[in-house]
Amino acid sequence: MTGDMSDTIAAISTALGPAGIGVIRISGPDALQIGLRAFRTNSGRLPQNRVATLGRLVDSEDGSHIDEAMITYMRGPHSYTREDVVEVSCHGGLAAVRSALRSIVNAGARQARPGEFTLRAFLSGRIDLAQAEAVADAVSAPTDLTLKAAEKQLQGALSNEVREIRSKCLDLLAQMEAEIDFTEDDVPPLPRRALHSQLLDIKRAIDSSIEGASEGILLRHGLRLAIVGTPNVGKSSLLNALLRTDRAIVTELPGTTRDVLEESLNLDGVPVVVVDTAGIRGTTDAAEAEGVERSKRALGEADLVLLVLDASRPLSRPDEDVARLVRNSRRPALIVMNKDDLPAQVTAARVADLLPDVGMVHTCALEHRGVESLRRAIIREIGAGSLTAGEIPLVSNERHREALVRAREHVRSSLEAVDDSLPSDFVSIGLHGAITELGLITGEDATEDLLETIFSKFCIGK
Ligand code: GDP
Repeated sequence: MTGDMSDTIAAISTALGPAGIGVIRISGPDALQIGLRAFRTNSGRLPQNRVATLGRLVDSEDGSHIDEAMITYMRGPHSYTREDVVEVSCHGGLAAVRSALRSIVNAGARQARPGEFTLRAFLSGRIDLAQAEAVADAVSAPTDLTLKAAEKQLQGALSNEVREIRSKCLDLLAQMEAEIDFTEDDVPPLPRRALHSQLLDIKRAIDSSIEGASEGILLRHGLRLAIVGTPNVGKSSLLNALLRTDRAIVTELPGTTRDVLEESLNLDGVPVVVVDTAGIRGTTDAAEAEGVERSKRALGEADLVLLVLDASRPLSRPDEDVARLVRNSRRPALIVMNKDDLPAQVTAARVADLLPDVGMVHTCALEHRGVESLRRAIIREIGAGSLTAGEIPLVSNERHREALVRAREHVRSSLEAVDDSLPSDFVSIGLHGAITELGLITGEDATEDLLETIFSKFCIGK
């Protein structure tokens, strides 16, 4: 995975498709030489370090013209990878960037693997593993809040915290090992009480770094929101109102929106995947059963369920069936009393009977009324209020949370060893475990397998 760093690698670093510009990145010891085989400066002079130079891309084999382009040379270590880097900006069309890459590869570069530039930045020590992961998150961030979380991690907020906790563990371990290795005359043993309080400090530091991780992870993965309800209550209209577009088909006839739809929604910065089960209908028993099945599936995957009811007609048996499904799923839910513009036929008390202790919002999906309250209720229900208020948690990646939780377990076992007056070795074991887990986050203790797992998910060119 870590590959041969003596290779010079190249890849198209911008998205493929018609675009104003496309960038081909070259990194490695021969970046400049290779770049110059595929590029002629207009001035005839060599490109200077960190200065964009105008010229043209040529076929490195026969010298024929490919495209007008700019070349930027960044001499290592002041570059993304810390190696010599050359970036060629040409027109962004598919043919232009592909011809450019072909010419550069023919000139001696190897095509980069996914994430290989960032891997090199990691291996050269310019960024750590958590920061490398943040690069991938920043690239794929669907909302501004997701981007903020990625940028916070990229700036090193999590890494610094983890490194500080890890170094406290290392200090403590050094003191303990001095105790084990030497006689009592050399090193006075750390009083148990002091040891206990230092361990407790470490545990508290881990606790506070995990705080808000669930919301952070929600930002990175997106919230799965299921919209369930019987046909014609206004699920598609509600989804449209939430999307503020007309992507879902709305019709007078029950059951036109046949399949489960998935839509991405930006809810005040929180990315949401909406699963709309508009296909649920009860014209026949079979269709009814299918609808219930679909509801079940959607519910199973949902972080939050919106049960939509038509408040302008009395509740039907199917309404009650779907409400029961929601209740039995035990997923967090909100009731949406839709068609609020028409005379009410359903009382809040009746609905509360079906689904006790569930929040309720009144909407008129047709006129997009009540939708703002619904958005706010969703944010409140998923506990994302602090996120939308701008509090970005340290942790937004499940891998990091798991490592922190395991590290905390190790520290806890050290604390127990102290409480039980066990010999120092038992305390050290826990500390060793915590140090390893924390090192997995920043990459000090990362194995080849872990690097492979992380970097293989990157796009090529990153
Ligand atoms: P779905 O089958 O649950 O997805 O329901 P639709 O969104 O397709 O809506 C069914 C019908 O109810 C359509 O004719 C909508 O225009 C109408 N409808 C939806 N929301 C409202 C509302 O708030 N008020 C009124 N009066 N009609 C609505």
